[in-house]
Amino acid sequence: MKHCYAIGGRINFNPSNISLCHGIDIGDQIIWRVGDKEEFTPEYYIRKTEEIDALNQTSKAICKGCSNLINDDKKNKIEVITICPMEYCQNRCVYCECFSGSKKESYNPLPIIKEFVQKGMIVENCLFDWGGGEPTFGYLFEDIFTYLLNAHYMQRVNTNAIRINSTLLNNLDNDYVSLRISLDAGNRETFFRTKGTDLFDDVVKNISMYRKKTDNIVLKYLINSMNSDLRSVRDFVNLAKTLKIKTICIDTEIRSYGALNYNGPLFFSDRELKAARFLESYARENGLTVQIGYVWTSHDFNTPSRDFNNLHDIRDLLTDYEQYSLPDKLYPAQIKRLKDFTNDIFAVPLSSYEYLVHLLKNKKVILYGADENGRRLLERMKKDCFCIKAIVDENLKGDIEGVHIISPSQLMEQLDDETVVIITLYKARDIILNFNRQNFIQLKDKLYKIDSSRF
Ligand code: SF4
Ligand code: SF4
Repeated sequence: MKHCYAIGGRINFNPSNISLCHGIDIGDQIIWRVGDKEEFTPEYYIRKTEEIDALNQTSKAICKGCSNLINDDKKNKIEVITICPMEYCQNRCVYCECFSGSKKESYNPLPIIKEFVQKGMIVENCLFDWGGGEPTFGYLFEDIFTYLLNAHYMQRVNTNAIRINSTLLNNLDNDYVSLRISLDAGNRETFFRTKGTDLFDDVVKNISMYRKKTDNIVLKYLINSMNSDLRSVRDFVNLAKTLKIKTICIDTEIRSYGALNYNGPLFFSDRELKAARFLESYARENGLTVQIGYVWTSHDFNTPSRDFNNLHDIRDLLTDYEQYSLPDKLYPAQIKRLKDFTNDIFAVPLSSYEYLVHLLKNKKVILYGADENGRRLLERMKKDCFCIKAIVDENLKGDIEGVHIISPSQLMEQLDDETVVIITLYKARDIILNFNRQNFIQLKDKLYKIDSSRF
C-alpha cells in the first residue's frame, strides 16, 4: 500500500488555505480554503485524508508522481503542524512573495489545534513549525506560542530576526523551542541585494541576543543568483563562528532551481552550485554542522523530499534533519533552460524599491512596460528625482508624465554607458529571451527587473 507521511501525519495552516504538504514534486495538496462553507474540523480532516489515501491506492491517485508516496505505514496521528496564516514581512527576499499581506491572520488556527489535541489526534512529540511571513509579527503569535509552550509541544520558529520578539526571547531557554533564521548573506551588501532591506547589522545583533539564550539556532543560506558570490559565503561562515552558531542549513530556491516553467529573472547556474559546494566544505572545515535542505532533491524524483517528521527531541533539529546531498552537477533540464539565454543576457532582479534606489541612484533609466505597474514606478522614481529617459511599450505612442514612449525596436538607440533598463512587466523571461535571440549584447549588465509587489 502506498502512503505518505503527510496524509494523516501533517497539517499546514497557510494564509488562504489548509494543506497536507508543501510538496515540491507536484505542488501542495490543499484540503480546505478560507471561505469554504464547511468548517475545518478533526472530522473533516479525517474524511479528506481518508478520501485521498483511498484514491492513492487506485489508478486515479491524486498524488501520482510525488516521491513521498511510498510503500509505508499509514499515519494515524499528526506529527508536524506548520503555522503560517499570515504573509506580512519587513523583508523583500528576492526569491519570496510572502511579504505583502496583512499582519492579521486570515483565520485563527488555535481553536482548531485545541480540538485536535482534545481528540487525541496529535502525537506528544509533534513539531509545530512557524512560518509566514514573519510569524512573530502575527497578531496571534503570542497566544498560540504560549499555549503550545504550556502544553509542552516542540516549536520551531522561522524568523527573520529583524525585530526581537520578547515572548520568544524570554522563552528560549527550555527544551521545546528552536529558531531557524534565513540570513542568506554574510555581509551587508549581499543581504541588501538578496533581502531588500539594509538591516544586516540589526539582524546580526538580534541573532546574537537570541544566541545568548539558546544554542538551538540554525542559520540558513538559501543559495540563489543574488547571493552566490564567494566573499559573502565565506563571510557567512565566519560570522556563524563568531556568533557561536553550531549548525547551518544550505538550501536553494525552489523556482529557479526546481521549476521548469519558472518565469522570473532568477537563474541557477554552475556559479550557484559552486557557491553551495564551497559553503558546505568551508563550513565543515570550520567545525560547523551542515544541513542540506530538501529543495535540492527537487530534480531527484526517487528521493522522498520532505523536511521532517517524527522528531523526538528539539535538539535533533540541530543535528539529524535535512541530511540530503548537493548535486555534483547541474541537471539536464537546468542546462537546457540556461541555454535558452543564447547570448548570456540576464536581468538582475531588484529585491525592493529601496535597493533599486541604492544601486541605480546615479543612473539614467529606461522603463520597460507602460502598464499600470510601469506608470506607478515611473511616478515614484520621478518623485525621487531619477532621470527617466524613456518608457518602452509596443502599442502606445506619445508621452506619459512628460516621458517619451518608445517602441522596443527603438530601445537600443537610447542606450549609453550611463543608462540602464528596468523591466516592470510580469513576463520578464520572454522579454529577456527575446533580447538574447536578437543578440542585444549592449544590454549585458544593464538589465534589471522589479516585480510590482516590491515598490
Ligand atoms: S504524496 Fe506528495 S503530494 Fe501527496 S500529500 Fe504526500 S507530499 Fe503531498
Ligand atoms: S524573511 Fe524573506 S523569505 Fe522570509 S517571509 Fe520574509 S521575505 Fe519571505
